Amino acid sequence: MAKVILARSAGYCFGVERSVKIAREALSAGPCFCLGELIHNRDTVRELAEAGLTVIDSPALVPTGERVVIRAHGVAAAVYDELAARSANVIDATCPLVRRIHRIVSRASADGRRVIVIGDAEHPEVLGICGWCSGAVVFSEPSELEGWLSEHAECAQLPLTVVFQTTQIREKRIQIEKILKKRCTNAEVFDTICGATADRQGEAIALSELCDAMVVIGGAHSANSIHLAQLCREHCGKVAFVADAASLDCSGLADAGVIGITAGASVPPRIIKEVVKKMSDEIIIEETTAEDVAATVAEEAAPVEAEPAVQEEPAAPAEPAAKPDSEKTFDELLEDSIRTINNGDTVSGYVVSITATEVTVDLGTKHSGYIPVTEFTDDGALKVEDVIHVGDLVEACVVRVNDVEGTVMLSKKRLDSVKSWNDV
Ligand code: SF4
Repeated sequence: MAKVILARSAGYCFGVERSVKIAREALSAGPCFCLGELIHNRDTVRELAEAGLTVIDSPALVPTGERVVIRAHGVAAAVYDELAARSANVIDATCPLVRRIHRIVSRASADGRRVIVIGDAEHPEVLGICGWCSGAVVFSEPSELEGWLSEHAECAQLPLTVVFQTTQIREKRIQIEKILKKRCTNAEVFDTICGATADRQGEAIALSELCDAMVVIGGAHSANSIHLAQLCREHCGKVAFVADAASLDCSGLADAGVIGITAGASVPPRIIKEVVKKMSDEIIIEETTAEDVAATVAEEAAPVEAEPAVQEEPAAPAEPAAKPDSEKTFDELLEDSIRTINNGDTVSGYVVSITATEVTVDLGTKHSGYIPVTEFTDDGALKVEDVIHVGDLVEACVVRVNDVEGTVMLSKKRLDSVKSWNDV
């Protein structure tokens, strides 16, 4: 009997889940348009089309005054301008993490820095990023960056700002950083690889090292799914990369003792279930639960170092909550990215990852915010995943800012206690 381990991180990431939710909510008020397919999954795209979502590939095709959804990949600034000129009602489902990259490159460009994007030049996310700055150059491989720096030696002295397509592989970022450190004098690097993607990739590597065979579910055009399959092939001799249950040939898996399953960020839970069911019907398998998978992966993972204790600063009175990014104009977003954060400020942002020790929050600035997990679980009765999830909007008080590292230690408890005092 083959043992099947389903990756904990398989399937929708919070950005995709959020975009599907936004589109469904928009459709509940009537038909609307979407600039490009909402996600790289044909079943979901078909289902949304049946509900009234018409896919168009240019803002010029949006009839005047109509509603249009912008997908998680985001679009260039010029697209917003064109939609505004058509009086379109924009329903913005750009992933907050992609929006953060837009802010970084806009600001860099305004500061006269040359932007370098590491990613696939043809991918919509990268096209969108390049549309928020001027003169960006895109490299898909570290060797391309090295070649460019050799050909244009003068560029090594320029102020450079480097960002990554959110689905890039961490190993590539490390190589890029080494090259920049060796060759450039004024390069700033932003780790914009999405935490959800990095977790998914890390888990896929751990699983593929454990398993005799891997099944990777994802669309042929999905960058993060292609990367997953690529990573699994590096660590496992037998990898099936399939779009759905119908395209899975189980005969090649029959002799595998342990089979791992993972899935790209655009794969709905239903398709994952159908793949597991097909494997169960065609080969004898023993399924694992989500808890079993989490335990397996936790055993494989290296322990994470705890953050040093934070010296507490007196808290300032709470300010009203900031409005979410989706309600802000571009000027407000740009303003946010430049905004200075000070100890005692009240800030809000989306949770982008949760580890054993900390919750990472995208603050909509160049900083990444961190809240110790213990702030959510201090009575010992709760697990962090019962209290907070990736994609949740949280408010917290700033405890310590590290401008050099671009990090901010946050405290939710401190803000809660200030609010309680204000209520009293
Ligand atoms: S950036 Fe991450 S969370 Fe956002 S849509 Fe892409 S993969 Fe999903």
